[in-house]
Amino acid sequence: MSEPVEKILQKVDLGKEDLITLIRLGPDESRLLFETAWKAKQASVGNTVYFRGLIEYSNRCTKNCYYCGIRRHNTRYKRYRLTDLEVIEAANYAYRNQFGSIVIQSGENSDRQFIETIEHLLWEINRLTNHALHITLSLGEQNEKTYRRWFEAGAHRYLLRIETSNPQLYRKLHPSDYRHVYERRLEALQTLRSIGYQTGTGVMIGLPFQTTEDLANDLLFFHTVDIDMVGMGPYIEHAETPLYHYRDQFLPLRERLELSLKMVAILRILMPDINIAATTAMQTIDPHGRERALLAGANVMMPNLTPARYKQSYLLYNDKPGIEDDAEESKEAMEENIRLTGHVIGFGEYGDSAHFLRRTKEEGRRTRDEGRGR
Ligand code: SAM
Ligand code: SF4
Repeated sequence: MSEPVEKILQKVDLGKEDLITLIRLGPDESRLLFETAWKAKQASVGNTVYFRGLIEYSNRCTKNCYYCGIRRHNTRYKRYRLTDLEVIEAANYAYRNQFGSIVIQSGENSDRQFIETIEHLLWEINRLTNHALHITLSLGEQNEKTYRRWFEAGAHRYLLRIETSNPQLYRKLHPSDYRHVYERRLEALQTLRSIGYQTGTGVMIGLPFQTTEDLANDLLFFHTVDIDMVGMGPYIEHAETPLYHYRDQFLPLRERLELSLKMVAILRILMPDINIAATTAMQTIDPHGRERALLAGANVMMPNLTPARYKQSYLLYNDKPGIEDDAEESKEAMEENIRLTGHVIGFGEYGDSAHFLRRTKEEGRRTRDEGRGR
């Protein structure tokens, strides 16, 4: 018999069994979990939501992850890469609207042109906005030299999801070749941290073959690697991917969302001062999924700034929302929905991870913006 929820939620340290109990909570009992997470959030990061303008830079990808709609072997999508001007214009939109941050995300590429273009864009965006934006990159695994080049060019944060902390499950979700090696991904995460990036990771929730114990281990993994930010959300199938073959084994989408919300709440209790994203995949399952994630403990949202004509080609999974919206419409709807949840939006603030700022202070390191006064 596991302990009562009330007792577990009062503990200072949550062990694996506690986490499993919390992940398995039914709708009635999880109310207490969400209340506790809300209090933890108010006491640590408060009720401000930070925007990161998302720029889906390219759907060209050298990898073939079994779950992802833009994997290399999916021939359905026209492949694109934004022009420099399109990226600058999207960044400028974030600047004019005081978003404080952008994310440049892409399929994985490591060719010279890709690396140099990203480097150039980083210098340009920082110069044109006078460092008013903090820039997150989410460009997959790269070697240390490339990560350093981009850091020197002005990237602040890097998001590299581990996808699952279970190496056996990782192998089931990826081809077994040199491009898809769990240990390499783990190393990349450590390299990013050692360079000085605010480091983010995350997992997909409700994957076929994934157990509750895997999810508990994912939470412990975030804690062990002392991560600064997390973006995690439900796995959503894409009909033109190999994982779709296992559709008989998928959890219902609603359950994947409920699991994801509980994972967010538990993580907020476990790591109160990190940044946690309310992800687009949650909104795919429920139009209010992201707002529910904010109420469960998330504090970051990513309005999509990708030019409209490319959105149709960056479909990681079925029914991705917002592909018809232009940036202005989706921002306004999002702002209104956020206010209705009792949050304020941190316009003009970077919204850096409080966890990162604390740990760099403790480690006696200077963050790259000390002295810049924001
Ligand atoms: N290519 C880079 C990488 O893989 O790190 C960044 C872009 S990739 C599209 C960003 C994330 O999308 C992945 O880390 C993965 O977790 C998520 N993703 C891909 N396919 C998904 C799916 N079917 N359902 C939910 N999330 C998915
Ligand atoms: Fe490429 Fe990232 Fe999709 Fe994998 S998850 S196929 S690396 S875009």
